[in-house]
Amino acid sequence: MGRKSNLDHAFVSIEWAQFAACRGIKDPDIFFCEAWRKQIVRQAKLICSTCPVSNECLEYSQIGAIAHGIFGGLGGGPRAEMRRLAREGAL
Ligand code: SF4
Repeated sequence: MGRKSNLDHAFVSIEWAQFAACRGIKDPDIFFCEAWRKQIVRQAKLICSTCPVSNECLEYSQIGAIAHGIFGGLGGGPRAEMRRLAREGAL
């Protein structure tokens, strides 16, 4: 069985996005700012903490192996670690 490619990501439903806490926010770039901008990153993660579809968002980013940005309240580093652990069967 092969590993999922990013191509699979193009066919994932994102109907859940209509319920996202970040939907319609004034500056969606806060979810993609540099990690050293800690206050902005914190602001984005705070929004995620109120989001009713954070699990779906996180799953979406993991299917696509998205390296950057905040999804499901997590940055790229922790998400990559989760993928590594899942590959090794630890999750
Ligand atoms: S978890 Fe965060 S980035 Fe994902 S949809 Fe919700 S608010 Fe947006």
